[in-house]
Amino acid sequence: MKPLRGGAGVLRQVVTDPNAVSKIARVALELCHYNPDTGEDLGPNVRNGEGCEAACYDCLLDYGNQRDHRELDRSLIKDVLLSLSKSQVSMNAGVLSRESHVSKLYEMCDSKLEKKWLKLVEERNHRLPDDAQKLLSDYFTKPDFFYAESFAAIYVDGPPHDDPHQKTKDEEITARLKDAGFQVIRFHHQADWPSILDDYPSVFGTASNL
Ligand SMILES: [Zn+2]
Repeated sequence: MKPLRGGAGVLRQVVTDPNAVSKIARVALELCHYNPDTGEDLGPNVRNGEGCEAACYDCLLDYGNQRDHRELDRSLIKDVLLSLSKSQVSMNAGVLSRESHVSKLYEMCDSKLEKKWLKLVEERNHRLPDDAQKLLSDYFTKPDFFYAESFAAIYVDGPPHDDPHQKTKDEEITARLKDAGFQVIRFHHQADWPSILDDYPSVFGTASNL
């Protein structure tokens, strides 16, 4: 099924072209010896009349999936592919508004360092924070960013946070929030930010370079 393989770029195409899924499904139907318009089984006639019943090397079988050959049966996916071939994809507001959400977050940034952090999150295509400069008044703190679903308070700590007095204050805040059930994730200005992002897939999702 080589024509269907592809990198992450394919995903972007699938959401931006309303007919991409339909086109992919039609190609898949053809590969599986079905008429993409009618669903008619062309299997009996392929391979110079040799025919294809469940699967053959012209459709689903290749040397890489030899262990699964007995399980592969093109008839099982026909109906799904036919209905996908008649489908259209529309982006939901969440996808469309990512850009405007990001620009709002940029406006709320308090420092260049926070903007740098946001840029990295954006570039690596991580989940975006829901909020910035979120006042948690009960805990006397205002995290730089906040992830509502995972209850995660993000702090981007610039050089002033290296001051011993500030350090103690930061530790107190971290402890207070953790006691209350928040996750606290600090990005020290000299730390390896990408690896911190990768450490919390439940908060930031997994990096991808779409
Ligand atoms: Zn076949």
